[in-house]
Amino acid sequence: MKLLVVEDEPKTGAYLRQGLSEAGFNVDLAVNGLDGYHLAMTGDYDLIVLDVMLPDFDGWRIVRALRDNAHEVPVLFLTARGSVGDRVKGLELGADDYLTKPFAFTELLARVRTLLRRGRAVASPEILQVADLTLDVPRQRASRAGQRIHLSRKEFALLELLVRRHGEVLPRSLIASQVWDMNFDSDTNVIDVAIRRLRAKVDDAFEPKLIRTVRGMGYTLDAGDGD
Ligand code: CA
Repeated sequence: MKLLVVEDEPKTGAYLRQGLSEAGFNVDLAVNGLDGYHLAMTGDYDLIVLDVMLPDFDGWRIVRALRDNAHEVPVLFLTARGSVGDRVKGLELGADDYLTKPFAFTELLARVRTLLRRGRAVASPEILQVADLTLDVPRQRASRAGQRIHLSRKEFALLELLVRRHGEVLPRSLIASQVWDMNFDSDTNVIDVAIRRLRAKVDDAFEPKLIRTVRGMGYTLDAGDGD
């Protein structure tokens, strides 16, 4: 997932870039409105975190230009202003959500994930398939070789992440942040336990085995056919 952060305050910008990178996102940072505008218009972003108060080319103008050009990328506004009028203006111009400064990073991350989920419901395929494993995302159903596999919500979320990024090695920290909303320093044993349970359901009775441990790195789901 590729994010653009437009923020002219150096400390806040660096803090957002670091935090979002650690949460597993690819982050570009623009430190002024004009750069932000150009990147937003040309870049292929999944979401934009946009500071409203930019000295040269403010967030209102950026979001208006995006929507005038039919760019439907989700926009999360950051505003230092408390007035209801400004928030309404932002939403009317086509922002998807806003956050008033100062904010807690966990709150920002939660909003970002919500917006991405909303966007993804339209943008990405709803039936996912790797080898003989099929995930019906809207109905939260999984099956292998036509046999239904019963999963808890978390197990499904974990399997969906592995399938959407199959072939990639996913570090525990990324799995923790994407599926459990946990930080890297949280007790990551929960992931190993969940993977073990998932394997019992998804792999034990089937060939080939799809979920693999990459020692010292994390987990990957791979059909082994080079696809
Ligand atoms: Ca600012």
